[in-house]
Amino acid sequence: MNKNYTSTRNKQVSIPAKEAIKRGFSNDGGLFVYPELNQLKINLDEIKDANYQQIAKVVLMKLLPDFSETEIATSIQNAYANSFDTPKITPLTSVSDFHILELFHGPTSAFKDIGLQMLPQLMKCVLGPKNKVMILTATSGDTGKAALEGFKNLNHMGITVFYPHNGVSKVQQLQMETTDGNNTEIASIRGNFDDAQTSVKKIFNDQKFKDTLDPNVSLSSANSINIGRLIPQVVYYFNAYLQLVKNKNISLGDPVNFTVPTGNFGDVLAGYYAKQLGLPVKKFIVASNENNVLTKFFNTGIYDRNIPFLQTDAPSMDIQISSNFERLLYYKSNHDTEYVKKLMTDLEKNGHYQVSKEILQSIHNDFYCGFSTDSEIEQSIVDIYQKYHYLMDPHTAVGYKVMRDYQKSDSDTPMILLSTASPYKFTQVVAKALFDKVPTDDHEAMLDLNYATQVPIPKNLAQVWNLPLLHQNVIDQNEMESFIKEKVEANFYDKN
Ligand SMILES: *Cc1c(COP(=O)(O)O)cnc(C)c1O
Repeated sequence: MNKNYTSTRNKQVSIPAKEAIKRGFSNDGGLFVYPELNQLKINLDEIKDANYQQIAKVVLMKLLPDFSETEIATSIQNAYANSFDTPKITPLTSVSDFHILELFHGPTSAFKDIGLQMLPQLMKCVLGPKNKVMILTATSGDTGKAALEGFKNLNHMGITVFYPHNGVSKVQQLQMETTDGNNTEIASIRGNFDDAQTSVKKIFNDQKFKDTLDPNVSLSSANSINIGRLIPQVVYYFNAYLQLVKNKNISLGDPVNFTVPTGNFGDVLAGYYAKQLGLPVKKFIVASNENNVLTKFFNTGIYDRNIPFLQTDAPSMDIQISSNFERLLYYKSNHDTEYVKKLMTDLEKNGHYQVSKEILQSIHNDFYCGFSTDSEIEQSIVDIYQKYHYLMDPHTAVGYKVMRDYQKSDSDTPMILLSTASPYKFTQVVAKALFDKVPTDDHEAMLDLNYATQVPIPKNLAQVWNLPLLHQNVIDQNEMESFIKEKVEANFYDKN
């Protein structure tokens, strides 16, 4: 069996997983995929008593076949042994007729920790003895801090994060500004998120600039299209299922449904990978906010990004192109890389593409899609708090609304809703939904919400207000390259 990865846009590409992690994406513009995915079955019976780390080992050994057993075991140990606030890593809570999989128990209280605690560890196994890497990330909030925590203090690696000045929440800003570690750099950019993102992309393609850097240093990204971030997310689908079995909610082999708050389609795609590996899932419920490009696609077969970009109360899902969707198109077209390439060219040139009836039908077999407005987000937060005393963040609330829509046609199959952030990461939205008066000061609002609900504040968010501010650079877009160069030259990634 071929154990290499290929590109969604060119089936001639054949590289080992390590190379795919090093490169991030293929130079034809495609994403790396494992062609034989549905031939790698995991025997549920063999992992039914396994803990999170043991399941992770089985899943990662399957999907990263060129890593040694020791490399995988060590990476899992370093990623998850001490950084989460529960040994379960992703605990499952049952709320009335459905279950919530909490993905926010990592060091930054967002689900991105699960991928971003692991990616740097895998990257470490990939680097040669002389290689050094500088990670560049533009962030609208959650990714930046999660990436900083994942890469901090790692040998031969540095990380520089750019975020829009005055463009992230107070908590998110403080989370970044208080980051310690000897290889972490942060600057806010005078401009919006798109400006920061565009500039970072430009820097990756600026060969002249890269030639001015130490030749042993390569630039890389912590973007969610890297398989090193995607594959660790497959683990919690198995873990959720097995927690239901352990709690006797289901028997081994019973089908379940998952509802997934969706932006870049990475989280829910990892679920689809789990299904290909043998997890008995009937449907994935894909939930978007008012940036509902995917819902329109599910209704028409047309993916059209030419719609206004909206800033919603679930900002980590404000997105017009769900990059990882390309991977689903690859599998659903039976690995037809020419077809995928044509669709992606249509998208780049015209802003839209249309898939065949057969492919749309095949996608409908595994997925249902819907969206939630901001006022429905608020309503969901109130609903679930009043009925069940469960406090939900706005992204999870998007999922809750779409889950209830779906359950009108299937209320029997056990349902697992993925919760992607702590409610305290988005205190203002949550508090405004629940109370008439909310302090404008975010710290006060957080304490009020805690006092009223008695739901504990995650330690990292409770402490962030009192930590020393270590990064307060504000720069212009055209200063980003010199900022990076200065950091590379200071050789800060190599201090320990
Ligand atoms: C990134 C993010 C999402 C979306 O996940 P994708 O993998 O991009 O679909 C949802 N909720 C929160 C809180 C996030 O940070």
